[in-house]
Amino acid sequence: MSNRQTRSRRRRRQKRNRIIFILLFSLITVFAVNGLIGLIKGDGVNTPDPTPTPEVSIAPTPTPKQIPQPNDYTLLVNRENPLTEDYAVETREIVCNGQKTGKQFDVRAVDKLEAMLTAAADAGCPLIVRSAHRTISYQKMLYTNKVQAYLNAGYTQQAAEQEAGKWVAVPGTSEHNLGLVVDIVNVGYEGELDQYFEDSAHFTWLVENCADYGFILRYPKTKEAVTGIVYEPWHYRYVGEEVARYIMDNDLTLEEYWEELKQNG
Ligand SMILES: [Zn+2]
Repeated sequence: MSNRQTRSRRRRRQKRNRIIFILLFSLITVFAVNGLIGLIKGDGVNTPDPTPTPEVSIAPTPTPKQIPQPNDYTLLVNRENPLTEDYAVETREIVCNGQKTGKQFDVRAVDKLEAMLTAAADAGCPLIVRSAHRTISYQKMLYTNKVQAYLNAGYTQQAAEQEAGKWVAVPGTSEHNLGLVVDIVNVGYEGELDQYFEDSAHFTWLVENCADYGFILRYPKTKEAVTGIVYEPWHYRYVGEEVARYIMDNDLTLEEYWEELKQNG
């Protein structure tokens, strides 16, 4: 190999090395400048990206239903769960807005009832108590009269009892025997208890506020199949504030509340 050839090869190698060096230098410069910009911006390697990662929506684990525990006032009384004949309750006369009513209520909860009646009057919806505690013997008389009315109308004994049972509870199966129930209507109404009451401002007030005093609308319109009792917008049952709030907020009946308790152990 001649000297000329050797020199020319060396020059080519030197030229190639220079190109490689320039390329490497350029690359390093680009990385260094980028890194510097990153540091100036504050998003260096060790700094967490301040942009929030979009949240992945994960369906929340359903929290188990918080069903309030039963208390001294949540006893279920209906056709399947009658009271024993000797059921006793201590009662006191209800005073409605300073007026004696001649009607009795469970002494442990009568203050709550009176507070509700006062609040209703203050809200422009004065109420009167039509019926409250009934003894089982009085309930027997009501039931017998109703059965007789159906018999007079030509019903068979069995059919008369069945129909009467829809309107008047079979003795021992009426909540009125408990002493924790009132039938209330607006002051001034003299007629029979009927579903007209639904259209009054008094009823609206009761539905919105009764739970604050521990009461529930016991026989709602859409729950006749559950309660076995026709819709009674005038009939309110004391169950204590916590249970009342739960039942009213969830559109339940006392039967459904007990069913939920059973299903949730
Ligand atoms: Zn009633």
